[in-house]
Amino acid sequence: MNASAARGRLRVEARGLVQGVGFRPHVHRLAEALALSGWVRNTGAGVEIEVEGARAALEQFLLRLAGELPPGARLESLEPTWLEPAGHARFEILPSAAGAPRAGIRPDVATCAECLRELFDPRDRRFRHPFVNCTSCGPRLSIVTALPYDRPNTTMARFEMCARCRREYEDPRDRRFHAQPNACPDCGPRLAWQRGAERAEGNEALGRAVELIRAGGIAAVKGLGGFHLFADARDESAVRRLRERKAREEKPFAAMFPDLEALRAHASVAPLEARLLASPEAPIVLLRRSRHSALAPSVAPGNPCLGALLPYTPLHHLLLRALNMPVVATSGNVSDEPLCVENAEALERLGGIADGFLLHDRPIARAVDDSIARIALGRELILRRARGYAPWPIALPEPGPAVLAAGGHLKSTVALAVEGEAIISQHLGDLESPAAREGFERAARDYGGLYGAAQAVLACDAHPDYASTRWTLSRPERRVEVQHHYAHVLACMVENRLAPPVLGVAWDGAGYGSDGTVWGGEFLLISEHEFERSAHLRTFPLPGGESASREGWRAALGLLYERFGDGLFELHAELLKPLLQDADARVLRRMLDRGLNCPRTSSVGRLFDAVAALAGLRRRSSFEGQAAQALEFALDPATVENGYTLALRPGAEFGSRSAWVLDWAPLLDALLEDLARGAAAGAVSARFHDALARAAAETAERLGAERIALSGGCFQNAALLERAVAALEGLGRKAYTHQRVPPNDGGLALGQLVAARRVLKRTD
Ligand SMILES: [Zn+2]
Ligand SMILES: [Zn+2]
Ligand SMILES: [Zn+2]
Repeated sequence: MNASAARGRLRVEARGLVQGVGFRPHVHRLAEALALSGWVRNTGAGVEIEVEGARAALEQFLLRLAGELPPGARLESLEPTWLEPAGHARFEILPSAAGAPRAGIRPDVATCAECLRELFDPRDRRFRHPFVNCTSCGPRLSIVTALPYDRPNTTMARFEMCARCRREYEDPRDRRFHAQPNACPDCGPRLAWQRGAERAEGNEALGRAVELIRAGGIAAVKGLGGFHLFADARDESAVRRLRERKAREEKPFAAMFPDLEALRAHASVAPLEARLLASPEAPIVLLRRSRHSALAPSVAPGNPCLGALLPYTPLHHLLLRALNMPVVATSGNVSDEPLCVENAEALERLGGIADGFLLHDRPIARAVDDSIARIALGRELILRRARGYAPWPIALPEPGPAVLAAGGHLKSTVALAVEGEAIISQHLGDLESPAAREGFERAARDYGGLYGAAQAVLACDAHPDYASTRWTLSRPERRVEVQHHYAHVLACMVENRLAPPVLGVAWDGAGYGSDGTVWGGEFLLISEHEFERSAHLRTFPLPGGESASREGWRAALGLLYERFGDGLFELHAELLKPLLQDADARVLRRMLDRGLNCPRTSSVGRLFDAVAALAGLRRRSSFEGQAAQALEFALDPATVENGYTLALRPGAEFGSRSAWVLDWAPLLDALLEDLARGAAAGAVSARFHDALARAAAETAERLGAERIALSGGCFQNAALLERAVAALEGLGRKAYTHQRVPPNDGGLALGQLVAARRVLKRTD
């Protein structure tokens, strides 16, 4: 690591009870103790902090800020963004920034320490009350039905507060002053158990759920933003049954642990990971599974990672304390459909999956999934922005007109630009099913309606077949179509507060290109108003089109055909055998020769699939990104020598209008040689990752780019991300990566907002 990389600047947005409680002096003391410069100030939304100094000290700052709160302070959210040093000379407390907070919706917050203490205190009147909450914690986004956020505008409207709860609610000195979901065992929601004809209520209901899970059964549990399916995570047959019934072959399940201590028996947990797990946002955190873990193999088949989370509602705390063991906690749905939120809906849709149902009578206003995060580059990276994070705003570069962005197709989100802020919805899932599309339309109405922004402009992807694009076509507002990878790069720029010119490296599975072909290995030069496709991966045919995204062997076949032409089928028959297996070679050959249903793509995601198939790791995927993951997991870090190479060649040689094309042919040749020699998949994977990272850096250098933003689904891969950043820095470039917004299509809506505003600025 070079000297500049060892220093950094950390911007932190802290929200919650952080004003008038000695929070700024606490920040000041901590900064001085760690020899950090910067500033702190109150804002309409909370406290904003910038600290600058040694990276290790900044990390300590982040950990201690949350861990050593002054008495009376309570955090609801702590979002860090790493930036480059700005040269702050000392630390100061700045005057408050003007502006009242926007009357918006706030995210659901994990149960706070004080409520947790009450939950397990036999003398407390809320002892074992599964709905305990206060002003600093509990449900918000999942219960609000309209603004302003007042009790009648929540799903708690049907519960009348008892006299004691009402007194707390009206007392400005009380922790529950204006806590909208405030309730107690006398006046609040109740649990109910349903299993066939069997019924129970309250604690008895909870006890039945515990019994069922202990006996190897599957329980559907109504949580905060939807139903979970719970099963004993150590019981292979229970977990396997859950997979079968849910029609979920191999996609990993998340597991919930009673506490951090229990989790440490199954995975290594670094301090930053522990911070995330125990944070008010309480996301699922991807961890390295330890070899001694006694979790059932079916929790995450063939996967060295473990998605872990801690209890975040009082109900989870009660359940997990009684169970005292890890449980699979997966979303209550069939396959990839949206979460079930209503009791009747769950009983029907999950009837074939769950053996019993733990229900309650507090309605859920909208589905809110668990968020997912991981640590990469020594910092937090959000992969799915949902519970705990959405819809906290993200600062836009400047104020502008209201715009609503419809996002993409997979990992859908919508976003709203109001003045200088972007409000990104919770993750809405893939828009593959009617139920998912319904959820999307609701969210689009929701975010426009709840904020009353009356947006006159809609932004969407340029793909004509995305359900989100089609929705905008049905609307009267002015529309702005935004190229997929351009949106990816803009999203990354917003997060890192970057102004053009910037070179965007946008690598993903597929996005609609400006020329109508499938893009996914793009180098986009971002200027003040637009972008230029300066370079891209050499294209290759995808026999079978869409189906190639789950069948990596098709990408491999297309790659080989592009390299060897028609001779492939005679000269390299033995190479094709394991790839084609029972597929009809003659049909495929005809398809390729005539270019029938063989769209061309420059996708790096498909290149990953092809290499995973060639290396014998994964011929087909049962979920998006599985082949690329298999390649990432196989990587043998001990392999350093003989990285493959991609050649940067003039675009004209390939009939491309871009200045440069990144040719994978030398990489493929070397890889085939390696495979012929019997090289291990781990070495092949390391060389492949290394080649891509170096190619990104060398292309940036050739294009004369100083600042490079890395975006797109491929950069969820920590090995690729870290190698690309190292390669870029090695060539004296500055690399910027996602942090709070996912690099995958969950970030598209944010980028679309910025693109639309750019268009409006130019044309108005
Ligand atoms: Zn609380
Ligand atoms: Zn009450
Ligand atoms: Zn994408």
